[in-house]
Amino acid sequence: MLGHPGVRLPSRSRFNINLIPFMHIAIIGNGISGLTAARFIRKQSNHDITLISGERTYPFSRTALMYIYMGHLRAKDTELYEPHFYEENRIRLLQAWVDTIDFEQQILYFDAKDDQEPLTYDKLIIATGSQPNRFGWPGENLKGVRGMYSMQDLQSIEDCSQGLKHAVIVGGGLIGVEMAEMFHSRQIPVTFLVREPSYWDMVLPEEESQMVNEEIISHGIDLQLGTELKEILPDEQGRCRAVRTSEGEEISCGFVGLTAGVHPNVNFLRDSPLEIDKGILVNEYLQTNIPHVYAIGDCAQLSDPPVGRRPIEAVWYVGKMMGETVAYSVCGDLTRYEPQLWFNSAKFFDIEYQVYGHVPVTYDGPLTSFFYGQEKRSLRIVYDKRTTKVVGFHAMGVRLRHEMCESWILHQTPIEKVMTQLNAAYFDPEFYTSFQRDCVNHFNNIQGINIQLSKKRGLSSFLSAIKSLGSSRTSKTK
Ligand SMILES: Cc1cc2nc3c(=O)[nH]c(=O)nc-3n(C[C@H](O)[C@H](O)[C@H](O)COP(=O)(O)OP(=O)(O)OC[C@H]3O[C@@H](n4cnc5c(N)ncnc54)[C@H](O)[C@@H]3O)c2cc1C
Repeated sequence: MLGHPGVRLPSRSRFNINLIPFMHIAIIGNGISGLTAARFIRKQSNHDITLISGERTYPFSRTALMYIYMGHLRAKDTELYEPHFYEENRIRLLQAWVDTIDFEQQILYFDAKDDQEPLTYDKLIIATGSQPNRFGWPGENLKGVRGMYSMQDLQSIEDCSQGLKHAVIVGGGLIGVEMAEMFHSRQIPVTFLVREPSYWDMVLPEEESQMVNEEIISHGIDLQLGTELKEILPDEQGRCRAVRTSEGEEISCGFVGLTAGVHPNVNFLRDSPLEIDKGILVNEYLQTNIPHVYAIGDCAQLSDPPVGRRPIEAVWYVGKMMGETVAYSVCGDLTRYEPQLWFNSAKFFDIEYQVYGHVPVTYDGPLTSFFYGQEKRSLRIVYDKRTTKVVGFHAMGVRLRHEMCESWILHQTPIEKVMTQLNAAYFDPEFYTSFQRDCVNHFNNIQGINIQLSKKRGLSSFLSAIKSLGSSRTSKTK
């Protein structure tokens, strides 16, 4: 029997799914976590499913928001399934904002504006995502000040962009750089305020962080490192007209993008019996403190996260894994959420970024890293000094095969073997040949050894490397 993603089989109960009576499962939030839960509940059961969101009727890819603004996609193109999918799978979609929940009577009440009758449920999954952070900056509620999280945010940014002469973006994370690229695509000058001395330096190691600094600046963005927002200044109409920075500079702008991180969107539940810290507290089965109520995705906080993982991981694939895992439990097959390797990917203008496993920013224990960089491309491999086993990969400007990096780490492969098999991780080995060769040469120089890069390329190199590790890939969300 195959395992579910990131889930060890022994932890599953022997519960017979067929004994669960027919029930109504309500899911608040139709993002990737809520949608995935609905899909997997349907795969296993005939239960009544209602997927609720105040934002939009049809689930869409939040990560593609920037491409709508840049004209690469229409909003419709970002929808995750065609409308008929929901009909065929009997997933009822409801566009309305849940205002309060009566957990005792198991009833959802909606915002008065939505004119929606209360809805009873037998089981409830809360998947309400995140909200952009606001730190109480003076002027943060002025017109023309906005985060970028929802379709409504995007519309507001679109409205503000007409005739916009200058935008200021606050916060040096992934969404900030996306916003900078969006304005840049319309030739709107951007000042990007980043509190830290280098872009995203609490996550990216020094060389990679520096590479992104240069990439941002090379696109004409006014990147101001080590600079904080102090206040946003209004005009007579109550719109933002300028910001004042920690350096005392006043910068005129018609839009301020607040992208200094996100927090779980749980405020509407604060006065309920639900246990909430930063997010909704859940155990390893994604159950809350209230029977029949689960929380998943960005809004969930693991009370006891697995070693090496954070209690809240607000990324797409975590929501997807949680959605699948919770579906089994809701359908009676109690299943632990046990994520395996950390993975994340993003793009900084023209530089793609991927991380697998453990890649610290600094090293003072048994771990060390090998780094090779060439202009807009780099590869970092983190390994244990004593055993030489690899624990993490960090790629900038080169796209690695997920399965290969995952297998190398899970099989505790020595770095020397990884270096000989390096071609197996590249999608476009012909294109990147010199990079891999130079990378191995650099490794040889540092180590004083003479490793030869395997001559095999493309798929054959991948298949033979996987075979040499002794097994195929690990289970993953489909
Ligand atoms: C611009 C942007 C780019 C991103 N890029 C990446 C990326 O490249 N890689 C990556 O891994 N992650 C990325 N992320 C993060 C990723 O998109 C999120 O982690 C993921 O979408 C969260 O999914 P979710 O299902 O938990 O919540 P969400 O997608 O936030 O869905 C929650 C839904 O619930 C609705 N809702 C909330 N409260 C209520 C209520 N009371 N009543 C009714 N409905 C409600 C919300 O309106 C929303 O539609 C990005 C996020 C943003 C904003």
